[in-house]
Amino acid sequence: MDLDFTPAEQAFRAEVRDWLAAHVPSRLPSMDTREGFEAHRAWEARLADARLSVVSWPEEHGGRSASPIEWLIFEEEYWASGAPARVSQNGIFLLAPTLFTFGTPSQQAAFLGRMARAEDVWAQAWSEPEAGSDLAALSSRAVKVEGGWLLHGRKTWSSRAAFASHGFGLFRTSGSRHHGLTYVLFSLEDVAVRPIAQLDGTPGFAELLFDGVFVPDAMVLGEPGQGWKIAMATTSSERGLTLRSPGRFLATAERLVALARTADPALQDRAARCLVDAEAYRLHTFGAVKGELGATTSMGKVFWSELDLRMHALAMDLLGPCAAETPVVRAAICSRSLGRSTRGHERDPAQHHRRTRPGAAPMNFSFTSEQLAFAAAVREVLRDRCGPRRPRVVLEGADRARLLRGARAGGGWRAGPHH
Ligand SMILES: Cc1cc2nc3c(=O)[nH]c(=O)nc-3n(C[C@H](O)[C@H](O)[C@H](O)COP(=O)(O)OP(=O)(O)OC[C@H]3O[C@@H](n4cnc5c(N)ncnc54)[C@H](O)[C@@H]3O)c2cc1C
Repeated sequence: MDLDFTPAEQAFRAEVRDWLAAHVPSRLPSMDTREGFEAHRAWEARLADARLSVVSWPEEHGGRSASPIEWLIFEEEYWASGAPARVSQNGIFLLAPTLFTFGTPSQQAAFLGRMARAEDVWAQAWSEPEAGSDLAALSSRAVKVEGGWLLHGRKTWSSRAAFASHGFGLFRTSGSRHHGLTYVLFSLEDVAVRPIAQLDGTPGFAELLFDGVFVPDAMVLGEPGQGWKIAMATTSSERGLTLRSPGRFLATAERLVALARTADPALQDRAARCLVDAEAYRLHTFGAVKGELGATTSMGKVFWSELDLRMHALAMDLLGPCAAETPVVRAAICSRSLGRSTRGHERDPAQHHRRTRPGAAPMNFSFTSEQLAFAAAVREVLRDRCGPRRPRVVLEGADRARLLRGARAGGGWRAGPHH
């Protein structure tokens, strides 16, 4: 396999690197706050002005028709530069590929350009209180009326939906289980949005309540009843390359290696292993895009999800109490489902196979014992401050300082003493 980059690819890398070096903002507030959400949108609009928001899309929708190799190059440079995570990721990485395949030209014209500039931010609305891993059990309905559909039901765990403008979801229009589902796009303006506070109080998710919300026929993606097939195209993107490009892991692994320079040799070994694995994932991916994607991407996901877990654990071991300050650990303690597998995993056949194969190790994407113990310490602080009622606060000031004074004890964390 030829892994050399062409002169055009090298020129593209140089252009992206230079632009990012000149424009990446130093640090944005969390995208799970209104202020941070807007700051992330503004950043993505700047990316779009430079035609760097969606490089792999066709020019007419704001892209550059970049090849998969160029897209991987872009991602490497993006994450290496320390640029912010993409607030529009569910739209540009999940919905957009589905729109390219199943959308009508007028749907593509109406949504893609606005999505690329983060004028519209899309949230995925699939999960329901009684339909998570078993997505086909969903019960939200779309009822046909003159010129459109009335949506009824309840969706949950919709990332970014607290501040997003649009959603894409599956609704039952007939049949049962996988049959008779319809893929519907909708504006969140008419939907009751109930933000879900994470452990730190910021609303990273929302519940969406539909009480006869009208959507016109033009908002149905594909044919009514075809929803499962279209949703599987979206999950291919979710478990495929686009959501977790190798550049993301490489940048993190390089930071871990830098952090480990003065650490003990065992930690240095683990950092080196992360770097080697991130590079292996990168080479595997370049090989895959030069060949055929398909099932390879699912195997890639098994690999990166486990690498992700190891990198998070190592970051905590390297940083000690300071780890609480890092986005990695913040994300861990803020996740709504401590101890559970994370999003999309259950929908991935490769993961499912691995989980159920006799003698296989159990699926391992839950948090480490350190992360769980750390989260327990956070809860302890919150309980002291707020009582048994589930708190909706942001830790700051003395509480935060108290938590950060937490000492490591027996492989876990405990909150520091009161002052
Ligand atoms: C960070 C994050 C972001 C998310 N964002 C979104 C979003 O934007 N939009 C959205 O629609 N959803 C979102 N979700 C929800 C997610 O996609 C899944 O719906 C959810 O993780 C699984 O559903 P559940 O929580 O009801 O768990 P359940 O389905 O109840 O599963 C609970 C446990 O049982 C296990 N389990 C389930 N079925 C089996 C089986 N057959 N065999 C063995 N074990 C099984 C699971 O592995 C899990 O450990 C998000 C979840 C997370 C954690």
